[in-house]
Amino acid sequence: MNSFDQGVLEKLRKSGQILRETREKIRGIVQEDMPVIDICERAENLIKEKGGKPAFPCNVSINEIAAHYTSPPEDNTRIPSKSLVKVDIGAHVDGYVTDTAITVCFNPEYAILVEAAEAALKTAIENIRPELSTSKLGATIEKTIITRGLKPVSNLTGHQVGRYLVHAGTSLPNVAHLISSRIKLGYTYAVEPFVTLPNAAGRVENGEETTIFRLSKPKPQKNPYAKQLLQYIEESFKTLPFAERWLQDIVPKSHYKEAFRELLSSKALVEYPMFVEASRKPVAQAEHTVLVVKDGCKVLT
Ligand code: MN
Ligand code: MN
Repeated sequence: MNSFDQGVLEKLRKSGQILRETREKIRGIVQEDMPVIDICERAENLIKEKGGKPAFPCNVSINEIAAHYTSPPEDNTRIPSKSLVKVDIGAHVDGYVTDTAITVCFNPEYAILVEAAEAALKTAIENIRPELSTSKLGATIEKTIITRGLKPVSNLTGHQVGRYLVHAGTSLPNVAHLISSRIKLGYTYAVEPFVTLPNAAGRVENGEETTIFRLSKPKPQKNPYAKQLLQYIEESFKTLPFAERWLQDIVPKSHYKEAFRELLSSKALVEYPMFVEASRKPVAQAEHTVLVVKDGCKVLT
């Protein structure tokens, strides 16, 4: 996506501003013992109130869960005491996506993880420019983390963002890597280092639970409620991820569970599994979306 069209640039900037304001508000309200669903709904509502739409459900991923947890309907989960809480939010304006994340730390022992993730993000932003190899960028992020005696999560990456796409094209690994591509002028990228403890595995694996989904293919549905649900998903979220919380009240409550199950079994939906650190060690994250300009980048979020 080349973003130097004036209209596109304006929408991207607006999307980023909405997200920045939402993130700073949320940073101030996350507390121990708070229901996770309150954080998700608060963030998503703030994005809407400011004139955007959520580009994906608000992720609240705690401790060893690195990413991809959002509250299912009627979630009772609360923020545990002494936890490390990643809040990852996305907004779009007319499909133009921005993506940002912070880690709120309630355990002084883990503060260094948050500091390292933020420092790695800052260094990446200072270095990113057209034609930079993604391996060099990864090496810079990796070095910033290792110098602090910590470990990057090697199989979680940043990514290019596109219209109605959160993960478009190029990935940005947080470590040096062999198959490298180059950063492109006028493209928009989400940069997101993940940091864990030095004795951790330093990679994530899929967890059991799935709370985030997106449309795969609009497969024909026999069940009329499944059909109705699928139509709503197509119209409302297009190719963007969504949560089951966003599907309540679309079909009668008594038919919802079966209809949703049908969509999953017919492979009309893609599931985003939770990502859990393989050795169950805590993970911190920091993320911004940037637009690559001639001599560097502009932070949109
Ligand atoms: Mn994100
Ligand atoms: Mn991202």
